[in-house]
Amino acid sequence: MIKTRFAPSPTGYLHVGGLRTALYAYLIAKKNNGNFILRIEDTDRERFVEGATENLLRSLAWAGIKPDEGVIFSEDKKRIEQIGKNGPYIQSERLEIYKKYVDQLISEEKAYYCFCSKERLEELRKIQEVNKQPTGYDGYCRNLSLEEVKKRIANNEKYVIRMKMPREGITKFTDLIRGEIEFKNELIDDQVIFKADGFPTYHLAVVIDDHLMEITQVIRGEEWLSSTPKHLVLYKMFGWQPPQFAHLPLLLNPDKSKLSKRQGDVAVEDYRDKGYLPEALLNFVAFLGWNPGTEKEIFSLAELIQNFSLERVNKAGAVFNLDKLNWYNKEYLKIIDEKRLLDLCGPLLEEKYSISNSQFSISKVIALEKERATTLLELVKNLRFIFEDLPYESDVLVWKKDNQEGTKNKLQELYNYLNTLSVQEWTKDNLDKKVGEWIKEKDYGVGNVLWPMRVALAGQKNSPGPYEIAEVLGREKSLERINKAIKKL
Ligand code: GLU
Repeated sequence: MIKTRFAPSPTGYLHVGGLRTALYAYLIAKKNNGNFILRIEDTDRERFVEGATENLLRSLAWAGIKPDEGVIFSEDKKRIEQIGKNGPYIQSERLEIYKKYVDQLISEEKAYYCFCSKERLEELRKIQEVNKQPTGYDGYCRNLSLEEVKKRIANNEKYVIRMKMPREGITKFTDLIRGEIEFKNELIDDQVIFKADGFPTYHLAVVIDDHLMEITQVIRGEEWLSSTPKHLVLYKMFGWQPPQFAHLPLLLNPDKSKLSKRQGDVAVEDYRDKGYLPEALLNFVAFLGWNPGTEKEIFSLAELIQNFSLERVNKAGAVFNLDKLNWYNKEYLKIIDEKRLLDLCGPLLEEKYSISNSQFSISKVIALEKERATTLLELVKNLRFIFEDLPYESDVLVWKKDNQEGTKNKLQELYNYLNTLSVQEWTKDNLDKKVGEWIKEKDYGVGNVLWPMRVALAGQKNSPGPYEIAEVLGREKSLERINKAIKKL
């Protein structure tokens, strides 16, 4: 069975790069009827942030990526739960497991106790830097006798445990994206695998967990590529079959530097809060480094599952282009289900305007601007004119071919005419027909009437058409706004 995993560290929020990693791992699992696992890697206690796991789960759930195994939210979203037979899936709950394996490596002399102090390591580093040597641990404790080790432990000396990297040979593997990769073992120093605080390091924990959780493909960011040979050496030490590896290309700012907070938002929650749709963000991140090989750009999650493959992921860094994300969001806003849009925008409108006692059909209100907005927040902002009478200057009412006086007269006559129409007649199509005929009869010219009518109704220069707005506002409010406009002139 194919099993992939997303293994974030709870240090804050879900990064868009993390979302892409999670998505790709999810797609590979789903495409092969496999399982997608969510594991929390919280062994670095210094970087641990309270609430970060909940935050990660919330962002993933929002994006629609649902783990089959591992750490999940309870139904009521109030508690964290774990599902699956290979748990626990939170590394800090697996310390005994790591301890057992590290003891095994020690007894097999594949790992050793290291008592080197921080000061010694700092000194070592300085010397290496001065001598322009590669920095790294020099193996000082690698050959301590068992006796000495016992004595120092009995003396309560602090220690870490390091793996014995082979001093020669190469470690190679075939990356599913990057092909053959080789590392010279001599260039890798003896990695700490167990820390003084009783926690394993990432290297040890990731190998043990990926093995015990039966992960078949490790999909992760390129920044982990240099860790892979260390992991492969550990697999070998344990005598385990390693999984396959795929290292995803870096995400870049438009100036090709590594994607950073300084140049824009990187947290998934920021995009959610700005009113991006999860399906738009997902579709967008799917294309950061992958393409289907066709012109098609809009992919639902189901279509991504069907079409995605690691073979079509590029090696080169992928530029995070906000314009493209905006394009996606606009496209998805055009096709979004009406009820869902209402559910998403309702609370936002509620928060911004006093809509509870308004007479309007909120669905119709939303439809007015939905084709023109980039995000939900922009959509909500653009609807202000419906809920509030916007201030505007009287000259905005005057069509370029008319004047103040003429505009006033026409609006007054229009008002008188509209006043004869009933509430039942007050629909977009009927107004279109009736007012159209009336303009013709009066021979006023379309622009001379519709421009001031639209500005009167919207209170601004740019807006949807007058009939659409009139229908949404309803008879009473429309007449009130036209009357107000006449008084301005
Ligand atoms: N915990 C690592 C991270 O935060 C996971 C790296 C991996 O996938 O192996 O990204």
